[in-house]
Amino acid sequence: MNMSEIKNAADWVRNATSICVLTGAGMSAESGVATFRDAGGVWSKFNPAELATPQAFSRNTQKVWEWYRARRAQLREVLPHAGHKVLARWETPSRRVNVVTQNVDGLHIQAGSSSVIELHGRLRAVRCVACPFEIDSLDDLGEDPLCPRCHQRLRPGVVWFGEMLPSGAWDEAMRAIAVCDLALVIGTSGVVQPAASLADAVLDRGVRLIEINPNVSELSNRATIAIRAGCRDALLAIDAQVSLWDLPSIQSLT
Ligand SMILES: [Zn+2]
Repeated sequence: MNMSEIKNAADWVRNATSICVLTGAGMSAESGVATFRDAGGVWSKFNPAELATPQAFSRNTQKVWEWYRARRAQLREVLPHAGHKVLARWETPSRRVNVVTQNVDGLHIQAGSSSVIELHGRLRAVRCVACPFEIDSLDDLGEDPLCPRCHQRLRPGVVWFGEMLPSGAWDEAMRAIAVCDLALVIGTSGVVQPAASLADAVLDRGVRLIEINPNVSELSNRATIAIRAGCRDALLAIDAQVSLWDLPSIQSLT
């Protein structure tokens, strides 16, 4: 990691009053959450493109639930990593941190972030296809769970291909961008929607954008700085500098 970039990033974080953070699969992968792209193992028998649609759910309910039951079971075993916690810690009375995430694992909320906009819904949530019934639980609900109120099917509370984003989530994300004075794009390539338009909206406003990604992405040469490192490591490195300055100076103690 380039230390002068880390120090700059820490400077901007320290002076920001409203930070908008966009996180993607790379952030979750460092907590051990398997991504769609993971080849082999238990995931190889599932093709998300064929399963993560409303049509697949009505055609092949048990298969779709089998995949989500496996993912929900995996989520019971994972915890937020230090990078998630750093983002939560950056919230102060004078600094808001809005986390916009494409991840469905809820790890930002678990880490203590108070403003999390989950664009693709939540793996923990299960809701009725017919009535407003919804629960937040990682319990195994069985092969084809039914709504306790109306006995219609329950479905995972995530956004499937071809579905609209949860009502309000996109507007909230755009609002977070409209007010931010610093943006971070972490663990997502920035070319896939909606990350791409969010990054564009930030850059159009002339706001500084820090990319954290171990790989070069299409966003890298448009970002103000691109930190080529793991999400956790980069956030810890920036936080070490932020914390250093957040401590009272010697003058103010005497
Ligand atoms: Zn119902």
